[in-house]
Amino acid sequence: MDPDIVRGLLDAERAEATALLASMRARLTAVVDAAVDEHADDEHDPEGSTLAFERGQLVSQIERSSRRLSEIDAAVARLDDGTYGRCVRCEGEISEVRLEAIPATEVCITCAGRR
Ligand SMILES: [Zn+2]
Repeated sequence: MDPDIVRGLLDAERAEATALLASMRARLTAVVDAAVDEHADDEHDPEGSTLAFERGQLVSQIERSSRRLSEIDAAVARLDDGTYGRCVRCEGEISEVRLEAIPATEVCITCAGRR
């Protein structure tokens, strides 16, 4: 695949992941502040447990997005050193179809299936 096209795809993915991460972080701050306002001192407070649940969800979503961002950055680095499109496990070539679908992937479809 054309490196310029790949770079464009990765840039778009990074912009999307960064925006998502920023909005989830803002939401998390709001949830944490709301929990403080509620004085979460009553463990049986249904509002409090909803907030705790949402907070847990947000934390795991933020972790997922951060991981995605580092995968995108790693893909850009591979693009720079010329190893992009090669599977990091078996060193085989990753199909163009797969790269188009998941530009930041670092493993071929076979290795991904073994996960
Ligand atoms: Zn592989």
